[in-house]
Amino acid sequence: MYSFDEIVGHENIIKHMENAFLRGKVSHAYIVEGEDGMGKKTLVKAFSKLLQCENPQGSRPCNHCPSCIQIESGNHPDIAYVRPTKKTGYGVTDVREQIVKDIKVRPYQSRYKIYIIEQAELMTIQAQNSILKTIEEPPEYGLFFLISSNSHKFLQTILSRSVKMSLKPINTERIEYYLIEQYGMNHGQARVYGSFSRGNLGKALILKDSESFTIQRQNMLKCLDIFINGKEYDIIEIVQLFEGVKTDILDNIDILISLARDILYYHSTQDIDNIIHKDIESEIIRLNQKLNPSRLIQLVYNSYTLINQLRLNVNYSLAVTVMLTNIEH
Ligand SMILES: [Zn+2]
Repeated sequence: MYSFDEIVGHENIIKHMENAFLRGKVSHAYIVEGEDGMGKKTLVKAFSKLLQCENPQGSRPCNHCPSCIQIESGNHPDIAYVRPTKKTGYGVTDVREQIVKDIKVRPYQSRYKIYIIEQAELMTIQAQNSILKTIEEPPEYGLFFLISSNSHKFLQTILSRSVKMSLKPINTERIEYYLIEQYGMNHGQARVYGSFSRGNLGKALILKDSESFTIQRQNMLKCLDIFINGKEYDIIEIVQLFEGVKTDILDNIDILISLARDILYYHSTQDIDNIIHKDIESEIIRLNQKLNPSRLIQLVYNSYTLINQLRLNVNYSLAVTVMLTNIEH
């Protein structure tokens, strides 16, 4: 159900929406900006539900009127989801057909005619120019939500006529709590997904079901095992483990660094409760037994260098090899 009460985090944005509604100061255009997975559309749908509700109770929709029911089913006649017709983005024709012409028809049943423009940053300059006049002088019932992961792509004229709401990362502990409550996850697993989500609930939910993330963790743990326990370890074997999952090679390094961080943290504090990879704490304890901390610190240091090199598109296998050979024995 689309409801402010079920949204995790983003309290400041919810407050803003509630106040705008209660004070009758709803703007005609909003830019809702944030990383993919942060819940931009969920927030906009919850707000739209409140705005269109026939019988709102304070700042909450009734959840029973035809409008509320239509929003839940995704078939509200006065809410349009605008999407680009081509992969490259929105052209002038898309905007004209789906918005500029359409808005001239009054709402069918509700107070507002709402346009939820997805991936709005994909509007060409020409497309933005063609919508500008509509945003500047909309009919009183016209309401636009420009959903975007990057508002830098908008013309200054669009920005200046819109209220911008930016979604910020939420506390990872809240994500952990959500995973435990909603999915019955244990604390150890929830800690891992929460930490790697970087405050993005949607990302945590994707990681939760991601087979490649699980394999990446296993591979990186194996790398560290070889690195820590093998006196004369085989660099090629480690490179192959790095290459095992190539969906996002920078993720591999992120995981490696976080595992190394856990081992080093445990090594110096003997505190196993505050590590990230809580679900494999016995592995962390085991790897600590033969640890040469200064070597592992060098590995972490070299890993950061590797991240910078990979951003410059250096050959992946070569960069991993150099990272390992640079470490003194
Ligand atoms: Zn209602």
